[in-house]
Amino acid sequence: MLEEYNWAGNLRYSATDVAQPSTLDELSSLVTSAGSVRAVGTRHSFNDIADSGGLMVNLEKLDGEPVLDRLARTVTVTAGTRYGDLAAFLVQHGYALHNLASLPHISVAGAVATATHGSGNRNGNLATTVAALELMTSDGEVLRVDRSSPDFNGMVVSLGALGIFTRITLEVEPAFEVRQDVFTDVPWTSVEENFDAITSAAYSVSIFSSLAGPAASQVWLKSRTDTEMPYAGAGAFFGGTAAAEPMHPLPGMSAVNCSQQMGVPGSWSDRLAHFRLAFTPSNGDELQSEYLVERGSALEALEILRGMSADIAPLLQVCEIRTMARDDLWLSSSYGQETVGFHFTWKPLQADVEALLAKMEAALAALKPRPHWGKLFTLERAELQGLYPRFGDFQDLARRLDPERKFANAFLARKVLG
Ligand SMILES: Cc1cc2nc3c(=O)[nH]c(=O)nc-3n(C[C@H](O)[C@H](O)[C@H](O)COP(=O)(O)OP(=O)(O)OC[C@H]3O[C@@H](n4cnc5c(N)ncnc54)[C@H](O)[C@@H]3O)c2cc1C
Repeated sequence: MLEEYNWAGNLRYSATDVAQPSTLDELSSLVTSAGSVRAVGTRHSFNDIADSGGLMVNLEKLDGEPVLDRLARTVTVTAGTRYGDLAAFLVQHGYALHNLASLPHISVAGAVATATHGSGNRNGNLATTVAALELMTSDGEVLRVDRSSPDFNGMVVSLGALGIFTRITLEVEPAFEVRQDVFTDVPWTSVEENFDAITSAAYSVSIFSSLAGPAASQVWLKSRTDTEMPYAGAGAFFGGTAAAEPMHPLPGMSAVNCSQQMGVPGSWSDRLAHFRLAFTPSNGDELQSEYLVERGSALEALEILRGMSADIAPLLQVCEIRTMARDDLWLSSSYGQETVGFHFTWKPLQADVEALLAKMEAALAALKPRPHWGKLFTLERAELQGLYPRFGDFQDLARRLDPERKFANAFLARKVLG
């Protein structure tokens, strides 16, 4: 039975019914007979993006093993597959995904639909590896599209608004190893002066901080061992020092649930996420939001946010800065621009957090911050449509594919579709 609440417990779904179909036929009859239906993944979003006023379907039980195509270098999975399970399958066959989010617990469909990302100057978000999709539309039929389809770039990061992904084909590459080196107390002056050098110091880089004080508390470098690793095993890093023991990004938390550090090389699948699949990720008792800006505006955004640290500090658990390569997916937070994301893990005080988010959004407005679709934000459609050049095209696509708005919900009405 599906949980009534999202992972963070800050949202009780309002769906009147939930279903976990095990076949496409079953899913098709659920979709055709429902007036209103939404797909839900592993419930890791912090807002009501997955919520439904009618039926909610979850594909965890849908039939189908992953299919690896060695020639095309792709893997096709049922959409509800969790990244952690897919990673185990790929490792067994000698393959890898290019990147992972901070946790492997989320579903492929949920991550793709919201432009979920990891980090790395040259790494697109997780949706950018989608090579083909199967989407069940409101008539219960499955539409198959790939990169040659004219609307493909609008259909990937689609917020669940166009239909239900049933199977997703992702690009894969030969397996590789990664080592993690963590450095502590990198002075903000150094971060500002060396932002490009710091974010390109490894395959994937995360800068953790409270935003307050003179230094960023931790910088995590995830280096591929098949590339140059200029800072692997270094004692110092841009004014910071190598951590003496494994670290958790949240101050005072044990690193036991974090992926292995201290430079020990290991499979991509055990290092690219910050948290291990077998453990509850992060603290569990938290809210999250994230604003993503064009790379050229990152230092200005950092200055604005550090200037607000007195307001931010009482609600903040940790801030994480990551980078993403530009892409062409219409509603992606990296659409058309190299991107830097400012992520916030908050204390579970939603009303206070939302009041602060409105202030942060106003302060950052000139930098056109794109909010993470699956995290908390207060921007509404009037503001959001100015942030995505293909926003109107996405609305048209939704009208065409779902004329009766079977897949719409309150979130989509407020934020995207009107
Ligand atoms: C502890 C924690 C850490 C996180 N770390 C990161 C991170 O590192 N990077 C990052 O970018 N985000 C991160 N997130 C956010 C998370 O990746 C997104 O919220 C993501 O959408 C969660 O996937 P899910 O499977 O739980 O989707 P859900 O929250 O269940 O659903 C999200 C959206 O996907 C749609 N959807 C789900 N299944 C389907 C389907 N089959 N067909 C069509 N649409 C579908 C839903 O309708 C909804 O619109 C984190 C969240 C948590 C709780």
